[in-house]
Amino acid sequence: MMRIGQGYDVHRLTEGRELWLGGIRIDHTLGLDGHSDADVAIHALCDAMLGSLALGDIGKHFPDTDPRYKGIDSKRLLREVARLLSERGWRVGNADLTIMAQRPKLAPHIERMRVVLAGCVGISTDCISVKATTTERLGFEGREEGISAMAVVLIEPIA
Ligand code: MG
Repeated sequence: MMRIGQGYDVHRLTEGRELWLGGIRIDHTLGLDGHSDADVAIHALCDAMLGSLALGDIGKHFPDTDPRYKGIDSKRLLREVARLLSERGWRVGNADLTIMAQRPKLAPHIERMRVVLAGCVGISTDCISVKATTTERLGFEGREEGISAMAVVLIEPIA
């Protein structure tokens, strides 16, 4: 028995914010804007996990009108979503993420993202894939107006 979920998120790039992606802070001239730390990769992963059990989306569980979530480290949200799955008897089998960003170069950071995300979800690093691509300067990502991320997860019952 298994189930599947997918997630997608976008945040706007702006000056004066730290860039958090895949659970780590990356040195860059721009950061993502949002109520939380605006980590699009984690938000896409959370939505994929919630979607796998038809539990709604991240906005339903952690509303951006709630001051408790202002500036929150998205890793806390990811741990909470993993807990929601486990209390229903499910765990992530594997997850595959793609981040669309023109800049900065993400390749040097991918391995650390995988380690951090796997730690939050509670699975081994080889069950978390993170990929990054530019969009060849096309679209909002290409114009560096924002960064988007997609995630797919397969979940399985806890034995
Ligand atoms: Mg978001």
